[in-house]
Amino acid sequence: MTFEENLTRVEGYLERFRKEGVLNHINGASVPAQSGEWFENVSPVDGAVLAKVAHGGASDIDAATEAATKAFPAWAALPGKERRRILHAVADAIVANADRIALVESMDTGQAIRFMSKAALRGAENFRFFADKAPEAADGLSLRAPGQLNVTSRRPIGPVGIITPWNTPFMLSTWKIAPALACGCTVVHKAAEFSPMTAKILVEIAESAGLPKGVLNLVHGFGEDAGKALTEHPGIKAVAFVGESQTGSRIMGQCAPTLKRVHFELGGKNPCIVFADADIDRAAQGAAFMIYSLNGQRCTSSSRLLVEESIYDEFTARVADMASKIVIGHPLDPKTVVGPLIHPEHEQKVLSYFDIAKAEGATIATGGQKLGEKGCFVTPTLFTNATNDMTIAQEEIFGPVLTAIPFKDEAEAVALANDVKYGLSAFLWSNDLERTLRVTDRLEAGMIYVNSDNVRHLPTPFGGMKSSGIGRDGGDWSFEFYMEQVNVCFPTTTRQIPSLT
Ligand code: NAD
Repeated sequence: MTFEENLTRVEGYLERFRKEGVLNHINGASVPAQSGEWFENVSPVDGAVLAKVAHGGASDIDAATEAATKAFPAWAALPGKERRRILHAVADAIVANADRIALVESMDTGQAIRFMSKAALRGAENFRFFADKAPEAADGLSLRAPGQLNVTSRRPIGPVGIITPWNTPFMLSTWKIAPALACGCTVVHKAAEFSPMTAKILVEIAESAGLPKGVLNLVHGFGEDAGKALTEHPGIKAVAFVGESQTGSRIMGQCAPTLKRVHFELGGKNPCIVFADADIDRAAQGAAFMIYSLNGQRCTSSSRLLVEESIYDEFTARVADMASKIVIGHPLDPKTVVGPLIHPEHEQKVLSYFDIAKAEGATIATGGQKLGEKGCFVTPTLFTNATNDMTIAQEEIFGPVLTAIPFKDEAEAVALANDVKYGLSAFLWSNDLERTLRVTDRLEAGMIYVNSDNVRHLPTPFGGMKSSGIGRDGGDWSFEFYMEQVNVCFPTTTRQIPSLT
């Protein structure tokens, strides 16, 4: 499709949102916030209002939790193969609506359509993967011991709260919602305030595909009202959260009074480590891709480039050259690689690091500028002459901004890689097999990629250590979070019950 065709089609898709607003979805019905309040969702391209959004709060969370609580017993009792059938139908509906989802999400987030079209389809893959696991979700073990037989089983924990961030919101929401539904939980979803639209599309197409009403509910709003109320609600049994580390801490506190189980996928300051023995062409391509794709607004993006001293100048010059040639533009233009950042507030945050970098003595090798008057366009940026103690090497900037730091040897590479509060992902480029084994053993990161960009395989554990998260998604790890383990013990001989007298 051409840019002009994309613009025309997205206008058609947005028309309804412009007319009626982006509504909450509770117990199978589209509803405004009970307060009657709205907030504005602005375009990252030019700041124009895309649509008004229902400004949900505690009473909307109450209504959504009541719906999820009522729907829970029947949904949990449905045979796994029946949930599998329904969730495959949801995946089919996502594929059928992939164009709409991708265009609306691209417009809403500013992320380029070339990446968003794949992200929409990944949402369908998430549903298919967990649909196929639904029949085995409750399976347990039999554990024999002398004189006893123990039988374990799992059951869904109950209605759960899912809180998602604004980057690739559709894919991330399905990554959390699909396993919760597959194992029999019902859901109240609080979507991100900066990019709320595709969450509404998801719940609607899921219900049109056969998901019973009340099983998935959606409340829009801000963290401090709708989000907080969801985490504090006694009817919600667990909270799965994706977002900033600081917000994770706050949510943990909010969940404490009701002793809720929490699952966190949080921020990162992920290293990309390049040794002189690596395939330098591929490493440069990989390093640039993992920070400049998806506007660098991606949790696994590698925002710290650690390069062996002997190739530092040549390598950073290559990356700077690639960054300076990246096509920046409207997210719906198929030629665009870097689109506008999500929101003026976030743009201000990213721009502030350009002054911080200069003040701390780093060099801006390329980029470091705001582009144009309208919209949140920022040039892909590379900082060189940087050290790991600088703010630009320690804080998550969450934009197309890379900080390059030299290292002398393997020991220093590992020390620098680990010297941040985060531990989400790491990328390692080396052609020395023994070295890759040694280094991967010592890296503090939940996901490590060797000579590669980030590769998805849904049965593998996804998540981070340190301030990057608690718990893992993927495979059976998702079910572990959304389910309770139960052990039933049968003594195999009649036991003498100890006397109390
Ligand atoms: P954020 O923490 O500001 O907000 C995320 C969500 O939490 C939003 O829906 C927001 O409304 C809600 N929220 C905010 N305060 C809350 C509160 N007190 N109680 C309940 N809910 C609250 O994050 P963001 O800016 O939307 O997203 C970017 C962040 O997400 C980055 O740090 C990024 O690394 C992280 N992220 C992590 C992963 C991962 O898998 N580890 C994936 C994507 C994004």
